[in-house]
Amino acid sequence: MRYFLTTIIWILFLPNELFGWGFFAHRKINRQAVYSLPPEMIGFFKYHINYITENAVNPDRRRYAVLGEAEKHFIDIDAFGDSAVFKLPRYWHQALEVYSEEELRRKGIGPWNVYLTQLKLTEAFKKKDVKAILRLAADLGHYIGDMNVPLHTTKNYNGQLTNQYGIHGFWESRIPELLAEEYDFFVGKAMYLERPQYHIWEAVEQAHAALDSVLHFEIIVSNRFSEDKKYSYEERNGINTRVYSMEFTKAYHDLLDGQVERQMKRAIKMAADFWYTAWVNAGQPDLNGLVNIQMELPEEKFEYKEPLDVREHEGFSSKREDSNLRQAFLAAIWRRPSTY
Ligand SMILES: [Zn+2]
Repeated sequence: MRYFLTTIIWILFLPNELFGWGFFAHRKINRQAVYSLPPEMIGFFKYHINYITENAVNPDRRRYAVLGEAEKHFIDIDAFGDSAVFKLPRYWHQALEVYSEEELRRKGIGPWNVYLTQLKLTEAFKKKDVKAILRLAADLGHYIGDMNVPLHTTKNYNGQLTNQYGIHGFWESRIPELLAEEYDFFVGKAMYLERPQYHIWEAVEQAHAALDSVLHFEIIVSNRFSEDKKYSYEERNGINTRVYSMEFTKAYHDLLDGQVERQMKRAIKMAADFWYTAWVNAGQPDLNGLVNIQMELPEEKFEYKEPLDVREHEGFSSKREDSNLRQAFLAAIWRRPSTY
């Protein structure tokens, strides 16, 4: 009971790393992508850079409120059989000819959803609909970010099948938060993509190829550390919380040899490329003229009685304490002020 109460208290001060790339990384990816845009776009995006940054995390919160949202954040490539990453149909309508929609949604629709969001953004640019442009650009940056995370491309998304439980948040949240300050996020100018759908699948191929190192290196480093050296305790909002120790994090990070930085940079570049491509395909509308239009940008509000029972990126095991943790986690999401 004491553990449960402690968990509740801790979870009510929900740390950011319980979501997606982690709130830190998603925000960073969207923000940095703005700086790669061409002169015709950068004024508008810079003017709204705080919106693009803060709303980078909305899709993860939406997962608990909107049916059909959760599966947009991942694809369990290995649930589709051998070499599926090379064989899966690149277009949604082609995929529906081979698989039922139910099966696709169960195993994740990440890459197809990126392209769909790209098309919606193109439409928003055509209409010069400022609210839609900003919302969809922020969403698109998030979904592209997720597709560059190796653990978003596997059914073993939290190491739960290989006894590496917790690795998801470790890789995509703990590492960037501790070590991203050293990263060089310069990615160069946005490029036009002839076939964006193929680019997002390349990202999935690449992320999935990196999965072996993500999992294998964690085992190698774990063998070098005793339990009490692998983890440490940090005070968060007055609560002692178990985390991966700095020493363990650095050792793993060294072995990964820049992998997290590379993946973040790919995501940044790709977000800028996709925004730019949508704008070009929309006929290069004048965005500078939209900057001075005064308007209230609405905060996304989610109305739901209780959070949907969707897959956590980070997963919760069936162990009793984790099931308590999950309940507390969901309660916290539910109680979160509806500012998103
Ligand atoms: Zn996500």
